[in-house]
Amino acid sequence: MKKVILYIFIIVLSAFLIPILFTMQFDFENTNMANANNLELPPEIQEMPNIEEYNYNEYGTIKLLHEKTSQIEELPIDQYLYGVVSAEMPANFEIEALKAQAIVARTYTIYKIKNSGGKHQDADICDSSDCCQAWITKEDRLNKWDEGVREEYWGKIVNAVDSTKGKIITYENEPINAFFHSNSGGTTEIPLNVWGGSGYPYLQVVETSGEDAYSQYNSEVELSQSEVIEKIKAVHSEFEIDFSKEDAIQILEYTESQRVKTIKFGNVNLSGVEARTIFGLRSAKFSVEKIEDKIKFTVIGYGHGVGMSQTGADVLAKQGSSFEDIIKHFYVGVEIQNL
Ligand SMILES: [Zn+2]
Repeated sequence: MKKVILYIFIIVLSAFLIPILFTMQFDFENTNMANANNLELPPEIQEMPNIEEYNYNEYGTIKLLHEKTSQIEELPIDQYLYGVVSAEMPANFEIEALKAQAIVARTYTIYKIKNSGGKHQDADICDSSDCCQAWITKEDRLNKWDEGVREEYWGKIVNAVDSTKGKIITYENEPINAFFHSNSGGTTEIPLNVWGGSGYPYLQVVETSGEDAYSQYNSEVELSQSEVIEKIKAVHSEFEIDFSKEDAIQILEYTESQRVKTIKFGNVNLSGVEARTIFGLRSAKFSVEKIEDKIKFTVIGYGHGVGMSQTGADVLAKQGSSFEDIIKHFYVGVEIQNL
């Protein structure tokens, strides 16, 4: 009888103990797996202090096409942006301007991925500034800077990108087409006057003073009469001009931002943007004069003039504007949101 009681006791005890033992075993394994995972984290991730701060659920990595080699490189988006910001904006610009550039570049990247329509097939974006946006390797970038400023400049670039992690510019909750250029010459341009495109209510004519303090503001191009003839004839074979006539060259119309809309050369009319391309001018904001047998273009600003002006961003930052102020100055009615 005592034996029966002992067996019952052992069975009841087992009923309690076995699940406890299994649970302990399970927890023990879990703990071990966690430790093992921690140890396996790549060193560059362990070193990043704010890894928990922002997680990219989507667009965490991008496929970058290197135009020269046709190779596709897969990169974490912010690492890609170090290469874009440092290629697109001088690192001696104010940190708030660099942050604005980082957000603009991130937005431009996401916009391209969502709206490229498979332009680069297996890649999201390419490293050509003529097509998508410029990009440079860290090694090449550092080599182009003087040794004394390398560490400081690279630190600013990394700070600009990391401190704005995940942030993009949106209009009605969609990423905007974040055009930018070097120097607006005082006023930005609407896309309609550059590419004929419309439907970007956030890209308006915006004024910024102080951009004349930058070397990108003023430039000149001087051509001989025969060079002018040759350049226009390459595009308009019917071109004829008599330079002795008073109205041989005449600006007929300006855009709202005071860029040339239409200019007449002899028997052809060119848009300001077309003239910019034909004569290699820095922008479509120019005047033209005949000086003896030369044609001289005096140009203001640098680039197409649409969206954020980089030197304008630096001016605003110097006056105390934050990256948010800068972005909202150049893009009308937008919000800054996390991806
Ligand atoms: Zn491209």
